[in-house]
Amino acid sequence: MLDLTGKKALVTGIANNRSIAWGIAQQLHQAGATLGITYLPDDKGRTEKKVQELVEPLNPSIFVPCNVQDDAQIDSCFQMVKEQWGEFDILVHCLAFAGKDELTGDFSGTSREGFARALDISAYSLTRLAAAAKPMLRSGGSIITLTYLGSVRVVPNYNVMGVAKAALESSVRYLASEFGPQAVRVNAISAGPIRTLASSAVGGILDMIHHVEEVAPLRRTVTQLEVGNAAAFLCSDLASGITGQVLYVDAGYEMMGM
Ligand code: NAD
Repeated sequence: MLDLTGKKALVTGIANNRSIAWGIAQQLHQAGATLGITYLPDDKGRTEKKVQELVEPLNPSIFVPCNVQDDAQIDSCFQMVKEQWGEFDILVHCLAFAGKDELTGDFSGTSREGFARALDISAYSLTRLAAAAKPMLRSGGSIITLTYLGSVRVVPNYNVMGVAKAALESSVRYLASEFGPQAVRVNAISAGPIRTLASSAVGGILDMIHHVEEVAPLRRTVTQLEVGNAAAFLCSDLASGITGQVLYVDAGYEMMGM
């Protein structure tokens, strides 16, 4: 039985009720996990208020800001985790960013700055958070990240984010190899296209969704809660033999030839 009772899970990447991280947080909570939530702070404190109201029904025991581009903020976030929990079991990395200019038009037009920023936030952050979590992750623990098919196939307008996701998936394999001896598993979920704040920055996202609805074996795309269910499975002892993998939760789209 899928049971996360007694497990503590730190979830990053909730921006609003469309976020994939919100689907994951709900399903981890339903399976019995205790939650800690991080959010990306803004100058006016609006995100903090919005996310806090959203997650309140899940009773998170930790609620902290964590901009993954800011080492001091990462350190104080994990200091808080150490003080509150001492050890924990699950780290959910569910965040990404690329400038709108990079997510449309020719890939060769990617700027040096845009490339570095997309790779820093969307790929390097997994390694940085994993390093901060490493001394506190209990045996049997799990790290999950979110990726997309654009890492291995050319998807119009996905551009530099595809390169970032390729780096992210490779990072999953290196981290899985490193963390395996301490019985911590590292996996990625490759989700089908879902309308969210982040995906709406990708040029033609609605066309992508319609295409999947026509071509995928299940004739639809997936929901945040379906991704949440797969995350709960991968974080549970039911997946104890699975590490370093990319699990496609995309209604079957990935394996279609035409
Ligand atoms: P979202 O906009 O709800 O979530 C993206 C999150 O990234 C937000 O919470 C945002 O605050 C956070 N973020 C951005 N910059 C950050 C920073 N510097 N520090 C900390 N957090 C930062 O969109 P989403 O679609 O739920 O995206 C979540 C993950 O799922 C991303 O990795 C995305 O690439 C991946 N994904 C999305 C889809 C899709 O179609 N929506 C498909 C496959 C994979």
